[in-house]
Amino acid sequence: MNWLTKAINFGEKIKKVLKKRASREEIDNSDWTSCCKGPILKKDLEENLWVCNSCGKHHRISCRQRFDIFFGKNSYEILETPQPSDDPLNWVDTKSYKDRLKIARKKTNQNCAVMIAKGRVNGIEVTAGAINFEFIGGSCGAAESEAIIYGVQQAIDNQTPYIFFPCGGGQRMFESAIALAGMTRTTLAINELKKNNLPYIVCFTDPTAGGITASFAMLGDIHFAEPGCLIAFAGKRVIQATVKEDLSADFQTAEFVEKHGFVDRIAHRKDLRKEISTILSILLKKNSELNSENLNETSNNIEPLAKTAS
Ligand SMILES: [Zn+2]
Repeated sequence: MNWLTKAINFGEKIKKVLKKRASREEIDNSDWTSCCKGPILKKDLEENLWVCNSCGKHHRISCRQRFDIFFGKNSYEILETPQPSDDPLNWVDTKSYKDRLKIARKKTNQNCAVMIAKGRVNGIEVTAGAINFEFIGGSCGAAESEAIIYGVQQAIDNQTPYIFFPCGGGQRMFESAIALAGMTRTTLAINELKKNNLPYIVCFTDPTAGGITASFAMLGDIHFAEPGCLIAFAGKRVIQATVKEDLSADFQTAEFVEKHGFVDRIAHRKDLRKEISTILSILLKKNSELNSENLNETSNNIEPLAKTAS
């Protein structure tokens, strides 16, 4: 056996090993997924709100799963958002954009990456939006921007706070400038929300990046984040190559961003509903347990002060 035959045989062996690896579709349809300690049953992960018990990793979830956790199952209403015409540029690269949309819709059972819902948290009526990373990487095109703006309009019409759970890599470049225009449009929509004095609360989820960070996602009155999630504009390697400096290992994590002032609070997925509703009751001056505690504290403090003054 000469060296050439040996090399070919070795190549065939490698091919066989590679073939044995599960395809993406097989992984999606399997009952198992993986985390720090290897395979983990999706059912077990689901029972724990898709958070790993061992390492605390907050796995990515769909919009419906997000609303199930935030509002409670069957306790919210999904709103139908406007649907602009697909693929305005007839984009084709290795696949056509129309095909990508078809696959994403089938996979996620969503029309676009964004979903808007209304419901109540601790008695407070809110409008909420979320992005599904499984829908073309959570990227934002015309339909997604329309959905975000529609959510704002609903919040204004019903005078409710707007809660948003962004995620995704940025604007959808299959729609080029049309997608980029979404950054300006969503920013202007959020301004309208603020003119109406309605709270806008953002909760970053993994990963929030690119045009999403550069527009509506960074404009919250209060910014929450799930532990460990990536919050970035440009990627770490791009920045490293530009500034020619070594960046810390936790660069662009929720914890790093919190330290630098762009995130107000990092909260575990199980606590988000409670923490967001507490903030809302303060912002809306609703009577809550916390408010009454504060009132007692204040009146206790005022009394001795008044005595000293007299
Ligand atoms: Zn883990």
